[in-house]
Amino acid sequence: MGSGPLVESPSHLIFPRMRVLRSTGSDPALGRLEAIGRTRLATLPTPLLAAPGLAGHLGTGARISIKADDCTGLGLGGNKVRKLEYELGPPRLQGVTHLVTAGGAHSNHCRVTAAAAARLGLKCSLVVNGEPEDPERGNALLHRLLGARIVTVAKREERGNAIGHEVRRIGAAGGKALAVPVGASTERGALGYVHAVAEMRNQVRPEGEPPWIFTSSSSGGTLAGLILGCAIFDWRARLVAVSADEPAAWIRGIASFLSMGAARLLEADPGSASRGVTGDDISAQGNRLLNRVRRVAEDVLVTDDFVGDGYGVATPEGDEAMRLFGARAGVILDPVYTAKAAAALIARLRDGTIAAGNHAVFLHTGGHPALFR
Ligand SMILES: *Cc1c(COP(=O)(O)O)cnc(C)c1O
Repeated sequence: MGSGPLVESPSHLIFPRMRVLRSTGSDPALGRLEAIGRTRLATLPTPLLAAPGLAGHLGTGARISIKADDCTGLGLGGNKVRKLEYELGPPRLQGVTHLVTAGGAHSNHCRVTAAAAARLGLKCSLVVNGEPEDPERGNALLHRLLGARIVTVAKREERGNAIGHEVRRIGAAGGKALAVPVGASTERGALGYVHAVAEMRNQVRPEGEPPWIFTSSSSGGTLAGLILGCAIFDWRARLVAVSADEPAAWIRGIASFLSMGAARLLEADPGSASRGVTGDDISAQGNRLLNRVRRVAEDVLVTDDFVGDGYGVATPEGDEAMRLFGARAGVILDPVYTAKAAAALIARLRDGTIAAGNHAVFLHTGGHPALFR
C-alpha cells in the first residue's frame, strides 16, 4: 500500500484494491477530500491486529481485532495525529510560524500538537490548565521535551483568554500563530478519520458482515470522522462510542454536527465550476452524502455508562479491561480513555449483544503516557 501524500496518489490510500474501486466508483466526496489538502504526519495504514487469545479467554464466538491507532507514530501516536493532518493542512499553514493550543496538564492533544510543530519547523505554545503533580512525568514531561512553551492557567475557563493573549504576543513579535482548537475536533480534523475507515474496510474480511467498531470518545472529532467515512463508503459498520467524560447526548450532538460540517466541506468545491460541473450537480451529490451522514449518525450507539466517577478516575471494569487486553492480547491500554472503551466492548461481548460470528474492532486511540504520570 502506498505511503506517499494523498494529494499525489489518492488511489493508493483510498482505493487500495480493485474491489473497493468497483464498489465506490469515483465518489465525488473522495475527489474533494484529496483537494482539501493534507499534511502527512501519521504512519499509515495502522495495522489491524487479530486478538484470538482475548476472544478465547472471554469465551465469545465473536472475532476481536484491534485497529492500532496508538501506532500512528508522531509524538507517540494516538488519534490526534490523523485529525491534525487536516487541521494543519497546507492551506491552514500558509505563513504560520507558531501553533497555539490548549488542554489539561497531561493532554495527549497538546503532546501531539507540540510534536507536529517540531516536525514542521514551527514553534508551539501550550496553554494548560492546572499544574501537573510532577512535570517530569507523563505527557507533562513530553510537552517539555518537545520544546513547547508552557503557559499555565488555573482553570479551564481561563484557557480561551490565554490563547488570545498568546496569539497577540506572537503577532506583536512579527510571527503568525495558528490557534488549534482543543482536541483538533473540528470539521476539518474529522476528515482524518475518513482514512481510518478506508483502511479498516480493506483490512476486514470483505465477504463478512461489516464489523462493530468501538471507540473512546470525548470531544467527538474521531467519532465524527468515523461517521463521515462510513457514509462516504456506504459501509454498514456498527459504530459504538464510549464516553471518557461527557454525557452521551452531548457526544452524539457534537459528533453529528461535526460530521455534517465535514460533509459540507467535501460538498463545497470551488474548482468545480471551471470543470463544467453545475451547482445542481454539486448539491445533488452533497444532499446524498448529507442524508447518508444523517442516517449513520442516528444509528451510532453512544454510551456514558463506563465513565464511573469521572474523567481520568479509574473504574474496576476499566482496570479489568487493561489486564485482559495486556495479558491476553499483548495490547497496552491507557487508563483514561481506552480502558473504559474496552470495558464497554467486554461488557457487550459478555452479554451477547455482540454475537458469535460477529466481528468486533476496537479502535485503539492511544494515550499511553497517562500510565507514567
Ligand atoms: C483525545 C482522545 C480520545 C477522544 O477522541 P475525541 O476525538 O476527542 O473524541 C480518545 N482516546 C485518547 C487516547 C485520546 O487522547
